[in-house]
Amino acid sequence: MRVLAIGECMAELSPVGETGQFRLGFAGDTFNTAWYLARVCPQADVAYFTAVGDDALSAQMRSATTSGGMDDSLVQVIQGGTVGLYLISLNHGERSFSYWRGQSAARRMLEHPSRLETACAASNVICFSGITLAILDPAQRAVLLSALKVARASGKTIVFDPNLRPQLWAQVDEMPKTVMQGGAVSDIVLPSYEDEARWFADDSPQATVSRYVDAGATTVIVKNGADPVHYAHAGLSGDVPVEPLGKVVDTTAAGDSFNAEILAGLIEGAPIATRIKRACDLAARVVQEPGALVPVDPTRKR
Ligand code: ADP
Repeated sequence: MRVLAIGECMAELSPVGETGQFRLGFAGDTFNTAWYLARVCPQADVAYFTAVGDDALSAQMRSATTSGGMDDSLVQVIQGGTVGLYLISLNHGERSFSYWRGQSAARRMLEHPSRLETACAASNVICFSGITLAILDPAQRAVLLSALKVARASGKTIVFDPNLRPQLWAQVDEMPKTVMQGGAVSDIVLPSYEDEARWFADDSPQATVSRYVDAGATTVIVKNGADPVHYAHAGLSGDVPVEPLGKVVDTTAAGDSFNAEILAGLIEGAPIATRIKRACDLAARVVQEPGALVPVDPTRKR
């Protein structure tokens, strides 16, 4: 099973205690999902589709892609370009983020549409997010949506996390409209209720599910922090409770890791409730440790 994840990975500088020193890592929503998927599902052949520059930092990002178990052969190299960067600041345990991503080469990943068409044709499952849509200009966004529509019509499974990030949109009212276009080309939509309620005025997770089902999705799974996961799948709906946790250290990539187990369950043909339960188990592990990419023992009991 070939899985294609399309998006932006960034360099991450995270503080090492209170020393004033920073550790370099690489992360980004679709990248995190692909990274966890490669860990939890050996049957998945995971490829990452993005663009990087030709500098040393971009080369390190490509190494992080391959050492994370992903195929980097679809990563385009843009001459003179570089990758986006974010830095995490800690203030009495609270994390805040500063971003430098305006010049990221990933913003140009669809300047040559045929690359994406070829990549989609060679994949079974294709995932993207609201962040993928946000970083592209309108012309490249149209290329992406149209390629996904064609891929879906030819039997590929399209998976979308709306990941609403208003700060990435120059015109914020473009965000809900474009995100619904993403939902409309997708089979599986994996939204987070808190964001959806804010931007779409959904009064319940059921309302979020209905909106994406009406747009054309066959499976919608609504993440809601420590609250139950509400889903609709193949015409049925239900809730899966989330085990309470004594300690939550850092919720970065909770939703991304959750998505990885949903993809793994799809590939393995697990029942929907099992997919969601495993997704909650992995996310629980991820929120109990700092950072986006938490080591996962591939042999652990699922
Ligand atoms: P996102 O990271 O996309 O905003 P959520 O915050 O809803 O998504 O979290 C995704 C999943 O992570 C949840 O469905 C749940 O399984 C797990 N999770 C997040 N926060 C908690 C928490 N406080 N306690 C237990 N599980 C949590």
